[in-house]
Formats: sequence, structure tokens, C-alpha cells
Amino acid sequence: MRADLLVLGAGVAGVYAALAAEARGARVLVVSKDPLPAGSTAWAQGGVAFPLDEADLEDHLRDTLTAGRGLVEEGVARSILEDAFRHLERLRALGVRFEEPPAREGGHSRPRVFHLGGDRSGLFLLQALLAHLKGPVLEGYMALSLLRGERVSGAVLLGPSREVVRVEAGAVLLATGGLGRLFPVTTNPPGATGDGLVLAWRAGAVLRDLELVQFHPTALPDGSLVTEAARGAGAVLLNALGERFMPRYDPLAELAPRDVVARAIHQERVNTGRVLLDLRGIPDLERRFPTVVASARALGLDPLREPLPVAPAAHYLVGGVRTDLWGFTGVPGLYAAGEVASTGFHGANRLASNSLLEGLVMGERAALAALEDLAWERGEALPLARAEPGALEGLRRWMGLEAGVVRRKEGLLAALAYARGLPLEELAPQEGVRREEVEAGHLVLLARLLLAGALLREESRGVHFREDFPWPSGRPYHTEWRGERVERVWV
Ligand SMILES: Cc1cc2nc3c(=O)[nH]c(=O)nc-3n(C[C@H](O)[C@H](O)[C@H](O)COP(=O)(O)OP(=O)(O)OC[C@H]3O[C@@H](n4cnc5c(N)ncnc54)[C@H](O)[C@@H]3O)c2cc1C
Repeated sequence: MRADLLVLGAGVAGVYAALAAEARGARVLVVSKDPLPAGSTAWAQGGVAFPLDEADLEDHLRDTLTAGRGLVEEGVARSILEDAFRHLERLRALGVRFEEPPAREGGHSRPRVFHLGGDRSGLFLLQALLAHLKGPVLEGYMALSLLRGERVSGAVLLGPSREVVRVEAGAVLLATGGLGRLFPVTTNPPGATGDGLVLAWRAGAVLRDLELVQFHPTALPDGSLVTEAARGAGAVLLNALGERFMPRYDPLAELAPRDVVARAIHQERVNTGRVLLDLRGIPDLERRFPTVVASARALGLDPLREPLPVAPAAHYLVGGVRTDLWGFTGVPGLYAAGEVASTGFHGANRLASNSLLEGLVMGERAALAALEDLAWERGEALPLARAEPGALEGLRRWMGLEAGVVRRKEGLLAALAYARGLPLEELAPQEGVRREEVEAGHLVLLARLLLAGALLREESRGVHFREDFPWPSGRPYHTEWRGERVERVWV
């Protein structure tokens, strides 16, 4: 198979990128490991954050910088927010009808989060984008590895009958989402196994700040999410003694940035045994939050009558494949956008609902940059790693215990020793390999990288909290993996 642009992933970043490339007459092939609508995008509840007007741009930027705790690249953030207006108009022109007025969410100083379908924002957005896509989407095909010579020139895919398909392309855009499935409790869908990170790393791209994983403060026991917007609408957090505790931790109380709320919940769970979210004060709860109500009922809980048990769950990869403002990874022919990428927009902590916005803006930019940079060559398939899927249970337990909301050196070392002890087999992509084995290989590899990054980050900043280093270091730094080496890179 051949395409101008090969887009791996069909969430917001991949589909919006494909639309932009198609609009310029390019032949685009989109690949999705899972049937559509797929990815975290389809599960996003809160909405998309857009600055309301020019004046609000400065406030939105300030909120983004505050949440990002010294690691946001201000120029990157400003440029993404400046582009946001154009994308809001474009989406409206595509027929997307956001609800009015926009809502307020944690860390935002104003109500600027735009919803669709109540708490089904991501699904409705993705469906609207997919409706405009002309070209094919290969559903059920998993990218196993990239083709690489002088540049990245395509990918090897694993088809639904375990056949191997080679796709050659003028450029490749990774839009494969995050790695939540590395953790025992996560809000992410089953396909969030960090594939794109491993593919990019093997092709020579830099992986940055992998230890910066955002934990959503309020997930139900099965990982289903109670959106931040619920707290924006008036839900309150209670400890096992029935006390409302958030005002003791932050003046913004329930609307404090996510890392603050997640740690407060962790602490109250340690101190009192459990934490509950009381949604009963929200008028019209069933209409406004149908997904939350349905998820709770599926667990036999009734949010109209009782507060719900909640705990933090792995939610969003703040780090990722390092890119520039055009989604370029530094490896010729390879671009990345969306959650898999690290642009510098989120710093050390993503502001709620800034990720769908980033997926739109960077998806389009990466597609346009890639189209300027098309070239064909015949590359060799890079190797892949496979591991026993059964190994993941133990690994996830370690990740939950030692790489969660609160971390410390001894625990990280023990988890790393465990991850390093798990067998990983390296092989060329070939017929008959199983998706689960490759995903397990990715997760084992990523656990090793993430844990080593978490050890190297001897500070607490944003989503990363070290009990043994409770303060941020004097000067902020990134952790960057280049090949087998990880190092601090000061900003
Ligand atoms: C429950 C939940 C709620 C959220 N709520 C919000 C919100 O309200 N607002 C907000 O801004 N953000 C929210 N987020 C975060 C946001 O949804 C994601 O960061 C964003 O949707 C990621 O988009 P993406 O296009 O990068 O990747 P995804 O939407 O995750 O899409 C990834 C795509 O890549 C495919 N893929 C993966 N690996 C491979 C492979 N090897 N080969 C081929 N295809 C592959 C998948 O099948 C999928 O098609 C939420 C996340 C979750 C999980």
C-alpha cells in the first residue's frame, strides 16, 4: 500500500490531521488499531477549552502556565491558544454545535470549556470529524513498527487475521494516544498501550518526561471517570468522616488543579479510609451527566441518592515524543500530534480540556508540515519487542503501588527491578505475531523508561510527587530519553 501521508491513530489528532491533509489534495491513509470511534477521544467527557476572546487568551495562557508548574513553554502555549479561535470557527463550519454557555473546570479562571452532548463531548466531536473524512480508515490494523532508512518512510501493520501489511508513505504522523493501560486503574480505553512512543523511540526520536502521568482525581472503582465538570457544577468531595476537605488543601477547593485534588484525595484515603464525591447538589444531574450516572448505575450505585466512592486513576500522559511547534519529531519523515506528543504546552501538568484543543491545533499543523516534507525511499522495518501478556498483572500492581500519585526512591527502584526482570524478546515484524504480545512488550519497555525517568526527577512538580523530594527543584528540567540514555535537560 502507498499513501502520501500515513496517519497512525484515529482519535481527534489523527482524524483532524487527515481532514487537513485531504483538504490539500493529499492521499491519506488513516489506521486505527481499534474499531471506530476509537481512542481516548471517544471517551472524553469534559469538553474542549477555547479562549473566549482576545482578552481571555491571556487568562487562558496564565491558567495553563499555572497548572504546568514552570515547565510550560510559553511560546508554544501562546501559539496554540492563538490558533484556537480559527479552529473553533472551522469546527462550527463543519457543523459542530457546541453547547452554550461554556462550562468552568478545575484550574480554569473562567468558564471556557465547550461541551457537546452533555458529557459525551469527545464522542460527538469525533463523529462529526469522521463524517467529513473522505479517505479510508483501516480499522483493526495495528502499527507494529516503522520503516526507516534515511527517513521514516512507512510502517508495518498487523491485520485482523494476523497478516502483515507494509505501507509506504511520503511521511508518517503518529497520533496513537497515551499509555494509561500501564496502570492497574485507568480511565483510558484498552488500546492505550503507548505503541506510538515505542515506535518513535526505536526510530530515533526523543521521549520526554514520561514520568509525568496525570492521575484523574475522581474515577469510580472500575476506572470510569467522573468528569471534572461535575465538580465545576457543584459536586463536593467528602472523606470517610463526611467532612468536606478540599478547602483545607487549596483556596479553589474542588476546582483546584488536578494534581492538588488527586493528592488531597490520596491523603484523605490514607487518613480516613475512603473518599466520596457527592453529586446530589447538581440540578438536573441525569440530563447533564448521563455518562456518569450510567457508569455509577452499572456498578450498582445511585448518584441521585448517595455519594460515590472515588479514587485517582491514570488518565493522561503529559510527556511523550518530543516535537516542535509543527509536530516534527526531529527524525526525517516522522511527525507526532495529540497525547503521544510532548510539545511543551502542558508543562508538568495538563490543564483540564486543553488536550482536545492541542490535538486539533497540532493535528492540523503536523499534517501541513508533513505535506511540505514528502519523499519516498524504501526503508527497513525496525524490530519490535514482545512480552508475555500474563506479565502485565504483576507489572501493573507495581506501577499502581510505586509509580502512582505519591512516589519515593525505594519504591521506584523496586518497581524498576521488577520491570527489568521481565523477559522481552526482540524480533522482526512477522506474520502470526499477536497484538497482545506486542502491546505487552510496549508496556514493559515503557515501564522501564517511565520508572527510570521518575527516579531521575528528584523533585515534586505538577503531576509528579516524590515524598523524598517534596519541593520543585530551583530550575525546571525535562527528562529526555535518547536511545538507551536518559538525562536531565534544563529549560
Ligand atoms: C475518560 C477520558 C476523559 C477525557 N476527557 C477529556 C476532556 O473532557 N477534555 C480533554 O481535552 N481531554 C480529555 N481527555 C483526554 C483526551 O481525550 C485525550 O488526550 C485525547 O483524546 C487524545 O487524542 P489522540 O488523538 O491523541 O489519541 P486517542 O483519541 O487516544 O486515539 C488514539 C488512536 O490511535 C490508535 N492506535 C493506538 N495504537 C495504535 C497502533 N499501534 N496502530 C494503529 N493505531 C493505533 C487507537 O486505536 C486510536 O484510534 C479524556 C481522556 C479520557 C480517557
